[in-house]
Amino acid sequence: MAELRHLRQEQPDLASAIDLQIELLQVQRRVQSRVSLPSIRLDSDYLNGLLSAPPILKFEQLPIEWGDVRFLLRATGSAMRQHEALDPADFRHLEALCLDSTRLPAVLRGWYDAPKGESPAMDDETAALSAVFLQAMRPFLTRSAEAIMAKTSLSGWAGGTCPLCAGDPDFAVITPAADRLLICGRCAARWRFDQLTCPFCSNSDRSQITSFASRDGQYRLYACDVCQRYLKAFDARRASRPVMPVVDSVATLPLDAAAMQRGYK
Ligand SMILES: [Zn+2]
Ligand SMILES: [Zn+2]
Repeated sequence: MAELRHLRQEQPDLASAIDLQIELLQVQRRVQSRVSLPSIRLDSDYLNGLLSAPPILKFEQLPIEWGDVRFLLRATGSAMRQHEALDPADFRHLEALCLDSTRLPAVLRGWYDAPKGESPAMDDETAALSAVFLQAMRPFLTRSAEAIMAKTSLSGWAGGTCPLCAGDPDFAVITPAADRLLICGRCAARWRFDQLTCPFCSNSDRSQITSFASRDGQYRLYACDVCQRYLKAFDARRASRPVMPVVDSVATLPLDAAAMQRGYK
């Protein structure tokens, strides 16, 4: 929270995006402290064994409390609505979904089980809410991922998607030892991945990977010329603090603009 406020002073252009992140963090904090452990055996050998058939974490193992979910969905939706990050029609759809105690669990399970977006439980209107689901489910997902990562380094995993929840990475960190750790956009789990391979399409032809750094050298962007997708990274070799994905993804919005200008998505 302090880093976000600091960033707001340094980069007033990003104020609206930063304010939204601060509000989302405040909403998530109200629930975070009372989220319990996931109902999975937290045993290193058992968890490492599950790496042969990921994802490790199944939807029914998430420590979900439905009253909290409805609060998180509504509060996330209204914060995003206020910052014009959600259409009025989508917001109304979200409110209706929160009142439907049969459909809500099915939709969230569909979202969790189909990270690439093709869920049979979701029509187009519901799929438009996936950014809300991502934020609202974060307290349950990150709590579960922390508990699992305390027992396994996930070093037996070499894939490009999250071994815990099957989500895509949405940030990375370059460690002082020059390894690249990918960070899941859903549960924030981290795992080591080859520095110059695209995690989205496995392209490892270095001539087809474009990489450039931000002006201050603090961040790096890897873009793939095969699938046109890109990933941003925090360079911990040049940093005075550890990576903070929530802060760093907002701080690097200008890098996103540069990547999109070059035709990446
Ligand atoms: Zn994940
Ligand atoms: Zn690619």
